[in-house]
Amino acid sequence: PIPAASNFIRAIIDKDLAEQKYALKKWAGSPGDAAHQAKGSLDFASIRTRFPPEPNGYLHIGHAKSIFLNFGLARDYNGVCHLRFDDTNPEKESQEYVDSISDMVQWLGFGWDNATPGGGIEHNLYFASDYFDVMYQAAEALIQHGHAYVDEQTAEEMRINRGTLTEPGKDSPFRARSIEENLRIFREMRDGKHADGSMILRAKIDMASPNINMRDPAIYRIRRAHHHNTGDQWCIYPMYTFAHPIEDALEQITHSICTLEFEDQRPFYDWLMARLVEANLLANPVPYQYEFARLNLTYVVLSKRKLIQLVEEKHVSGWDDPRLPTLAGARRRGYTPEGFKLFTDRIGVSKADSWIDYSILEDCMREVLNDAAPRKIGVLDPIKLVIDNYPEGQEEDCYAPNHPQKPDLGKRIVKLSKELWIEREDFMEEPSKGYFRLFPGNMVRLRYGYVIKCLHCEKDASGQVTVVHCEYLPDTKSGTPGADSVKVKGNIHWVSAAHAYPAEIRLYDRLFKAPHPGEGKNDDGSDRDFLQDINPDSVTTISAQLEQGAQAAQAGDIYQFERHGYFVADRKDSVAGKPVFNRTVTLKDQWQK
Ligand code: ATP
Ligand code: MG
Ligand code: MG
Repeated sequence: PIPAASNFIRAIIDKDLAEQKYALKKWAGSPGDAAHQAKGSLDFASIRTRFPPEPNGYLHIGHAKSIFLNFGLARDYNGVCHLRFDDTNPEKESQEYVDSISDMVQWLGFGWDNATPGGGIEHNLYFASDYFDVMYQAAEALIQHGHAYVDEQTAEEMRINRGTLTEPGKDSPFRARSIEENLRIFREMRDGKHADGSMILRAKIDMASPNINMRDPAIYRIRRAHHHNTGDQWCIYPMYTFAHPIEDALEQITHSICTLEFEDQRPFYDWLMARLVEANLLANPVPYQYEFARLNLTYVVLSKRKLIQLVEEKHVSGWDDPRLPTLAGARRRGYTPEGFKLFTDRIGVSKADSWIDYSILEDCMREVLNDAAPRKIGVLDPIKLVIDNYPEGQEEDCYAPNHPQKPDLGKRIVKLSKELWIEREDFMEEPSKGYFRLFPGNMVRLRYGYVIKCLHCEKDASGQVTVVHCEYLPDTKSGTPGADSVKVKGNIHWVSAAHAYPAEIRLYDRLFKAPHPGEGKNDDGSDRDFLQDINPDSVTTISAQLEQGAQAAQAGDIYQFERHGYFVADRKDSVAGKPVFNRTVTLKDQWQK
């Protein structure tokens, strides 16, 4: 495993801290103060990071990487991390998303109330939309310094005049407008005097820049849309690339960490910071942006757009469907925050894009659950086993360890009686080569119980085995002196039919059959759609026989059912005394075997 301490972002932070780049900053005089003073002290001498989701969907496993990175750095360096809702794009955002995102950040073990050196509490939960006034002022300041103009070209004209990678762009005929005219029209835009899409405010940078993002990017657009936070107060909204640096600056972020797609935006980020410092709206040192490779995981899709499609078109049961790579789905599946922490530490943080195999995530969950989960016995595909020589009506206690690696967790009683449930696959009438379990004439151990000898079986009209008969060897009980008197190769698990209870269990397989869903072409040359790669058999519901103790499971409790894997009591469908279990992950990587 890669130690968490070795990523390139930590190297940058170490250097910045050693040079006291931010330590001496007096956080006064910036337009962010109003927002901050309402919320707490600004007096911090370490780093400030942020996790800035747009509340336009549920968080997914990719976001967990970003959460552990940003909140984890703040924790390790005694700094703070802000949870900031980047809600500058009104149409697709909602309170439901805000709530679920907050819930998931907390589930992963992080929060936004930070103790300040002065003994106060800094409440570091922010909404970008709270800064719309400041963003508007910043836009006016750019106009006043000759760095922005209102462009009335059509979208098509703008697209053509932007140029290409090999050809420079062409100046807009509106580029030479006077400062006064730009200010007047921009205020008219704000006051609702112009139609949606009729004009935009653009930064005035360089239409010949080799970086297309620097060819006068749009910074404000007209959009009559209701906003979940500001209602109908605004009919103009800032573009993400303009809003995000300002949000970072207002919140005094030191290290603004984002994914590699934004690398080409960094020159604009720095340009905007420099202009706003010149205009006296911000003070140095300003935040800097650093990029890392996003998480790409095989066999899932990590894109809010695709996840929304899966939910809305009902390919899954909802945002928290246990097959989805949403964090809400992962929690319901039984994945744990500790498992995600191990996973993010193990995959590390780098600057090179790559694909992580889904089995690495499963291995991490397995590792964590192996340590954490108490053991229980469950028979998933039950058939009856009758011990012909065991007295009718008798029962006795056997002792099973709650955790074989943790003897201090003790043992629990499992009841043995004449009729048991065993796995269908633990009996073969005609054994194949190397089969050591039950077949007529063979002996196996009932785990924690006796050695038994298989006699014969009963079948129904279709030839299906319904009951297996055996006899037990009374001197061979586990834990007694005679336990080793008979040597057997097979060891099977069981539950007493009189003491077990039937439970609904869902066994999950991957939601997609292909490692890169939607990649490639169809036979007719058309692009594949990711929905074409959906696995039609990604869930199987069965009725299993479980040891009685499992009946007390509370929603969210996780057990290892011996030989079968880890199972969580579903948080939605379980009721008291009747938990429904989801298989989180098998004991070994069994996929495609
Ligand atoms: P999507 O592409 O799924 O729509 P997004 O990047 O648009 O995601 P945001 O809400 O903007 O979603 O993301 C919040 C933060 O999470 C951003 O800083 C983004 O860089 C980070 N993030 C999103 N997806 C991943 C990923 N796959 N790996 C790592 N970080 C991610
Ligand atoms: Mg985004
Ligand atoms: Mg995106």
